[in-house]
Amino acid sequence: MGKAKQIRKKATAKIGLVSLGCAKALYDSERIVSHLRAEGYDFSPDYRGADLVIVNTCGFLESARTESLDAIGEALEENGKVIVTGCLGAEPDVIKARHPKVLDITGPAHYEAVINAVHRAHPPEHDPHFDLLPPGGLKFTPRHYAYLKISEGCNNSCRFCIIPDLRGKLVSRNISDVMGEAEKLVSAGVKELLIVSQDTSAYGSDIQYQQGDWRGQPRRSHILDLAQALGELGAWIRLHYVYPYPHVDNLVPLMAEGKILPYLDIPFQHASPKILKAMKRPANEAKVLDRIRAWRSQVPALSLRSTFIVGYPGETEKDFAYLLEWLEEADLDRVGCFKYEAVTGAAANELPGAVTEEIKQERWERFMQVQQRISAARLKKRVGKNTEVIIDQIGKNAILGRTKGDAPEIDGLVHLPLQKNIRPGDIVKAHIHASDAYDLHGRIII
Ligand code: SF4
Repeated sequence: MGKAKQIRKKATAKIGLVSLGCAKALYDSERIVSHLRAEGYDFSPDYRGADLVIVNTCGFLESARTESLDAIGEALEENGKVIVTGCLGAEPDVIKARHPKVLDITGPAHYEAVINAVHRAHPPEHDPHFDLLPPGGLKFTPRHYAYLKISEGCNNSCRFCIIPDLRGKLVSRNISDVMGEAEKLVSAGVKELLIVSQDTSAYGSDIQYQQGDWRGQPRRSHILDLAQALGELGAWIRLHYVYPYPHVDNLVPLMAEGKILPYLDIPFQHASPKILKAMKRPANEAKVLDRIRAWRSQVPALSLRSTFIVGYPGETEKDFAYLLEWLEEADLDRVGCFKYEAVTGAAANELPGAVTEEIKQERWERFMQVQQRISAARLKKRVGKNTEVIIDQIGKNAILGRTKGDAPEIDGLVHLPLQKNIRPGDIVKAHIHASDAYDLHGRIII
C-alpha cells in the first residue's frame, strides 16, 4: 500500500446542540454553529452520535432555569461531555452545584469562549480546500427567513428582569456590520429579516449613534437609519422588541412607504401607570393609546403585537381592571400574557403586595378571554381582502404561510389549498375567505 493511502484523515468531531430560550438565543446558537461548521466540525442530531454537546440555556424565568438545568442533566446522562453557554451560563455556581461534571461554562453571546471550549475538548481539523459555510452562515430557521441581532444586552433596569445582569449593558453593532450581514443573508436567499435585540429602539445609543457607511453613503447606527437601509434590500423587514420611545413615530412613515413591514412588536407588559412605574419600564408614558391611533391612521394595515404580565406584586383589582380597559382601547392584533413569576435575583421580588397564584390564574384567564375576542375580531376584518403571503411550509393537506402582519412562530398562519409549483419562501397573493381564533384561510390568486 502506497504511503499516500496510509494517511487516514482523523474523523471530524461531531457536536450536538440543544438550543433553549428566545430568538436571541437561537441567533447565538446559529453563530456558534456557523463558526464551528466553518472550522470543519460536524453536527449530530442526537446525543449518542455526538462527541460533545453544547447546551445553550435560558435563565429568564424560574421555569426556564429549571428547564435549562434539566436539559444539562439529560445531556450529561446521555452523552457525558457537555459545554454550557447562554443566559444561565452567567451563573456558573448554580450550574456547578447541580452538575459538577460539565466541561465548561460560558455566559450569553460569548461565542469565542464557547469555540475555545470546543477546541480544548476536540481540536479542529482544518481543511483549507473545503468551503463548508454557505454565504448566509448556518441557520436553524427555514432558508427564507432569518433573525438579525443588532445589539446585545440592555441599559434598562426593569424590576422583574435579570437580562442586564445576565447579558450585560447595551452593546450595539455598527450599522456597517449589521448591513453587511443583512446583505449576505438576502443574497443567500433570505426573504424576511427579523430584527431582534433586547431593546431595538435603543439601538446605537451606547455608541453615540456611531457613523458607518453602506453602499457608499454615511449612515448612523440608529434605528431609523438602519430601518431605511434595510428597507433598500427588497426583503420583508420585521421589527421586534421596539419600545415606544418618541423616535419610533418616525419609523411609521417607512411602513407607509412599504420599506419595512407594517408590524410592531412592543412589549407593553402592563398599562396601569402605577404598575409600569413599579416595573420601572422604559418609555412608560401615558399617551401610548393616542400614538397607537396616530400610527394606525397613517398605516391602517399596521399589526401590533405585545406581551403582558398579570399578577405583578402590588397589582390590585383596580390596576387589573385598568389594564383590561386599556386592552379594549388599544385593540392589539396579537398578545401574549404571562403570570408573574419571581425570577431569582430580580428586584421585583422585594416588592410588597405579592399576588396569590389563584388570583394570578383568574386574572390571566380574564385577560385571555378579552384578548381572544379582540384578536378574533381583528382577524375577521382581514376576511374578504387580498393580501401578500410568504409561504413557510408545504404540508400534506395544505400550504401554510403568513401575512405581513404575522411573525413566524409567535403569530398566526394563513392556510391555503395545495397547489403545484409553490415553494417555501415564495411570496404569493391570496384572497382571504375565512378566519378563526388565530389563523386565516384563503386561496392563492397569483
Ligand atoms: S428592557 Fe427591561 S425587560 Fe427588556 S431586557 Fe431590558 S431590563 Fe429586561
